[in-house]
Amino acid sequence: MELVASMLAGAQQSLARLITLVERDAPEVSEIMREVYPHLGQAYTIGITGPPGGGKSTLANGLTRIARDKWLSVGIVAIDPTSPFTGGAFLGDRVRMQQHFLDSEVFIRSLATRGSHGGLSQTARGVIKLLDAFGKDLIIVETVGVGQTELDIVDTVDTTIVVLVPEAGDTIQTMKAGLMEIGDIFVINKADREGAIRLLAELEARLPLSAKESQWQAPVLATQAVNDIGVAELYHEIERHRGHLEATGQLSQRRRQQRKEELLHIIEQRIREPLLHVMERDELLMRALEKVERGELDPYSAAAEILCNKAFISSWLSELERGVNG
Ligand code: GDP
Repeated sequence: MELVASMLAGAQQSLARLITLVERDAPEVSEIMREVYPHLGQAYTIGITGPPGGGKSTLANGLTRIARDKWLSVGIVAIDPTSPFTGGAFLGDRVRMQQHFLDSEVFIRSLATRGSHGGLSQTARGVIKLLDAFGKDLIIVETVGVGQTELDIVDTVDTTIVVLVPEAGDTIQTMKAGLMEIGDIFVINKADREGAIRLLAELEARLPLSAKESQWQAPVLATQAVNDIGVAELYHEIERHRGHLEATGQLSQRRRQQRKEELLHIIEQRIREPLLHVMERDELLMRALEKVERGELDPYSAAAEILCNKAFISSWLSELERGVNG
């Protein structure tokens, strides 16, 4: 594919166009990923998740500055599942653009994932691969922590940073389930505000209980991203975490697991689409489905009925085959 070739040759514009295809879950994505695969290199990926306005972009900006001082090239992907598809840059992008505008070694892109079939993690994975193949050393993925998104990010990155702010309500008690487990590093940003010390103490007190089997004690840092306070320490902790993952073999283990998840995800998706297609064409099955929807039939019996229908299974398989070969 010409677009992939020119991206690999260093054309940023081609990279941007490929990202758009991944974002839209275009039919070309399989081919793109196949061609990009041999060029996946050495990128290290960081995920930053937290509430909107928590300072994720400002932190990513600060980390980028430090990485650039070390001559590392950087890709930043901002994913906000709450924003409608705009096709343009978000405000955070424009702020960052001003800083890194003249630096061709920094690539920044916002993604809209709403409506994409593959979901957030699949889109993020695709974009990460493109940036990796493009030659980025460090890739930062920002996601707004709503619902499933902050949990999804773990499946796509090497180091996960959870950002909290000392605003009312953002205490440990109200932290969503699972958030404590996903953070490799916790950041209390806006530490210039009241309540930061209390939140930090509260978090530190709770963390030993949730320390993972990974032998890694997740550190809690106080930062003021906007004043560039604590950002160098954060960068240092990221490097320390990376060192830990590498030394213990967990980095390759994590990536193995992620690749497996990705494969299973792709297969599930491939299976599901023709399944729905074929079901929609079958009157009997649609009737069973409607009964389930109305609460008149339990889903287990309906599933058994559907999956025992030989004619259905065979048309599903031929549809599946057509999809894989086409
Ligand atoms: P994001 O939505 O999580 O990416 O948040 P942004 O990085 O866009 O920051 C949201 C707002 O918070 C911006 O106006 C920042 O200037 C401001 N901000 C970021 N870090 C700090 C901080 O440490 N203290 C204070 N007071 N404001 C901050």
